[in-house]
Amino acid sequence: MTIPRLSKAKAGDAAVVSVGMEEAASRLLYAATPAEAIEILLRTDRRATVLWSTRWPRDIACHPAAPDDATLVEAVDAVATTRTGGVPPEHLRILHDDGDQIAAVLHCPAGCPELLEPVARRLRELLTVLGMQQSVLRLEQAEMLQRSLYAIADMAGSDLDMPDMLRGLHRIVSGLMYAENFYIALYDSGHDSLRFLYFADVVDTQELDPDVEIPLAQIERGLTWYLVRDRKPLMGSSEQLRKQVSGPLRLHGADSSDWLGVPMMREGQVRGALVVQSYLEGTQYTTAEMSLLAFVAEHVLTALERKTTQEELERRVEERTRQLAETNFELRREVVERERGERLQAALYQIAALTNVEDTNEHFYHHVHAIVGELIDAENFYIALASDDGATVSFPYARDRHERDWKARSHRRGLTEYILRTGKPLLVDGARAQALLEAGEIEPEMMVKPTLMWLGAPLLGAEGPIGVVAVQSYDSDVGFDERDAELLTFVSYQLASSIQRHKAADALKQANASLEQRVEERTGELREQIVVREQIEAQLQHQVMHDALTKLPNRVHLRHRLERGIARLARDPGQRLGLLYIDVDRFKVVNDSLGHLAGDEVLKEVARRLASCVREPDMVARLAGDEFAILIEQVQIPETVSKIAQRVLQSMRPAMTAGDRELQISVSMGIAIIDDSYDSTDRILHDADLALYRAKDAGRNRFVLFDHAMQRTAIGVLDLEQSLREALLNDEFTPYFQPLVRLADETVVGYEALLRWQHPQRGILAPGEFLQVAEDSGLIQAIDWRMFRLALECGQGLVREGGYITLNVSPRLFQQEDFDTRMLELTTEIGFDPMHLRLEVTEGTLLGDPEAMVAVLQRLREAKIEAALDDFGTGHSSLGHVQRFPLKMIKIDRSFIAPFETGTSPRSSAVIGAILALGHALGVEIVAEGIETPHQREVLATMGCDYGQGYLFGRPQPVDHWLGKQ
Ligand code: C2E
Ligand code: CA
Ligand code: CA
Repeated sequence: MTIPRLSKAKAGDAAVVSVGMEEAASRLLYAATPAEAIEILLRTDRRATVLWSTRWPRDIACHPAAPDDATLVEAVDAVATTRTGGVPPEHLRILHDDGDQIAAVLHCPAGCPELLEPVARRLRELLTVLGMQQSVLRLEQAEMLQRSLYAIADMAGSDLDMPDMLRGLHRIVSGLMYAENFYIALYDSGHDSLRFLYFADVVDTQELDPDVEIPLAQIERGLTWYLVRDRKPLMGSSEQLRKQVSGPLRLHGADSSDWLGVPMMREGQVRGALVVQSYLEGTQYTTAEMSLLAFVAEHVLTALERKTTQEELERRVEERTRQLAETNFELRREVVERERGERLQAALYQIAALTNVEDTNEHFYHHVHAIVGELIDAENFYIALASDDGATVSFPYARDRHERDWKARSHRRGLTEYILRTGKPLLVDGARAQALLEAGEIEPEMMVKPTLMWLGAPLLGAEGPIGVVAVQSYDSDVGFDERDAELLTFVSYQLASSIQRHKAADALKQANASLEQRVEERTGELREQIVVREQIEAQLQHQVMHDALTKLPNRVHLRHRLERGIARLARDPGQRLGLLYIDVDRFKVVNDSLGHLAGDEVLKEVARRLASCVREPDMVARLAGDEFAILIEQVQIPETVSKIAQRVLQSMRPAMTAGDRELQISVSMGIAIIDDSYDSTDRILHDADLALYRAKDAGRNRFVLFDHAMQRTAIGVLDLEQSLREALLNDEFTPYFQPLVRLADETVVGYEALLRWQHPQRGILAPGEFLQVAEDSGLIQAIDWRMFRLALECGQGLVREGGYITLNVSPRLFQQEDFDTRMLELTTEIGFDPMHLRLEVTEGTLLGDPEAMVAVLQRLREAKIEAALDDFGTGHSSLGHVQRFPLKMIKIDRSFIAPFETGTSPRSSAVIGAILALGHALGVEIVAEGIETPHQREVLATMGCDYGQGYLFGRPQPVDHWLGKQ
């Protein structure tokens, strides 16, 4: 148990009075203090001692003298023992115990003294009064503490500044204890340093700056240092303090006689220290004061924290307000700047938008002026544009208070011209103007206006300045500065590009207009040309289909009708057609004796009479020279046909007049009855021709009906087919060559290879004898390849000097998919340069599958093999086809050349003329076939035909013939 501290009894209590028993009793009555009462008890035994307290077991007082510690402990134990129902030792008597705070114990080693009871009673009364008095005192103290704490809290919330508040705190602490010397230190654990916020000391008068941080190390092992490190209060003299600290103590500053310090704690952490000290001998701080200071310290810390937080807050608010003010100022400046930028931007947009408006220039510039006027003072404003050569300046827009004359000017030196020369914006005041004048940049005459200030910017195009935009001032209160110059320059960029865009748009519009006009004109021309062409084509078509002399349909026409007829029969096998092949008997005699004109008259008359024998839809056609045909549709075969044939014979009976002669004309006819067994026009014509031959043979002026037996006997198809196979095996085919010549000088330009059959019995046979059968049987392909190989092999010699060889390709062969590849392989194998090879194909071949044929021709052309259109004029003969296919050459069929044998032929002339025109236009060579007479050559050469082929220049011959000739 700890030893309770003794409080000393007051000096007056020590008065000792020696009295008798009686007197003792009466004196007891007047005893005013516990000591007076006890004195009465001790008058008989001076060794006894009384210990008492109103705050048992603290603050124990005693009389007559302070007992030793053992006695003190015994007394406390005795009270405790009694309270738990025990019995204290003999030499200790409990004089009074209220069971709570008031107790008094008698220590009497020599036995119990007299008057114990009355003294004890009186002592009880006195102690009770004393206890009440002390209680009042404590309450007063508690109230004072309370007030102090309120005051502290109040100060923290007040608007006192920190030094005032600290002084206030000091005052309050002084009210609670002796605190003349007092300091408050705040500890910063982060920096391990102290700040002495407040320091009052009568001895140590140093000034400590509350803002200066003092490292804790500087006061190492001092009292304050220990307060922070040991975190517990310290109290007492230096000697006592030395015992309380956890290590050696080093004293700083003046040595005090008594010292009391408490750490200020918050959440287990030291935040500072509160210290009071005394230099006065005799003062001693009590534990009660220590607890009080610790208690106060807590509140002081709170108050300080509140104050510093508040101060910090105020400082922050102030700082923030300052920052906000700065930001605000900056923002306002920015807003102004931005507003200006926006105005400028808006102006530029407006100018840019103007270019999209289809406005007149005047309007456009006016708008620009208005926009510039919003940005700077532009009462006097003009836009100048330089001519392309830069010599002339014109003013498309100007508004000016003084100047009225804005005519264009050339070769002058004004400010505008100066900017055009330099390409830079220019701000001119009086001084600058003078300088420019002296430098000779400006003519004096250009400076007569009362201009005070002038500002101009160049309108910069891709290749330098194209103009100038300028403002000027005649008033002293209107001026321009660099900022305005900058702005006008901005505007000028936009203006320049707008003007250029305007110009470009105008130019484009003009270009478009003129282009449109030209297209219009050209379209008109083309339309006219097309109309003409269509007319020509229709005319040609008609000419191609009709005979010019008799106006009758021609061979081509007849073939068409026959083809259609065949197609119809294929659909409707019950039908039949009849073909009358008619030849005028001995017409050559008429021609030779009476001349061509008479011959023509006769032919016309024959045509008329034939036409009178039939009705639509039957058709009379002139095939060639004196050959005619009648096609009879839907006939009761063969009776109708015979009847019509009879009628024809009869119609010829009346005499004809030709020139001044009366002539008796007759005709022979071969008739073919056409049924669905026919699949080619050629066969029909062939059969009818065969029958005609029979009719002539039988004495003319008659008709013969073709029958199949007739054909079989005539040609012996089956035999022929067999013979052809053998001919292939026996290598009986051979090429003959016929030259193609330039009509102008008859030089040979190439040779056509023509097939010949060296028949063992019948000698040399031309294709006419066997081609039909070869084609029908399919043998033609094998024959062709044989023929091609031979022709290329022996034809090498013919092209040595240049020129070409042509090969006739049968339709079916040419239409085979791999034809071109095989042909190329053949030339490669033989070593024949494809450059010298041309292939002849007929229109019929090409029209089967035109697209595929175009492709084949294209591929061949890429391989350097060109193509010729053979027998042109006998098929559809459309000029359109000629354009469609990639051809090198067109061979005009012999039937068109024949009429020029001796005379003229308008029809042939028209056809040939058209072909020649087209050929020349397309760069296609035209060859006239079957030229037999010099007249024909003459006519064709005159018409502009460059090439020809025919007996006149050479018949088909074996290669040796031509090589020998060379
Ligand atoms: P084509 O291609 O029109 O050949 C021209 C024909 O006219 C040749 O008859 C030629 O001898 C003949 N001719 C040339 N100049 C004259 C002339 O001034 N007056 C007259 N009246 N005739 C002339 P050819 O040789 O009898 O050939 C007949 C047709 O046989 C050829 O007509 C051609 O279509 C075909 N042909 C010829 N050789 C071949 C061949 O190797 N293969 C194939 N598939 N057909 C061939
Ligand atoms: Ca030919
Ligand atoms: Ca031909």
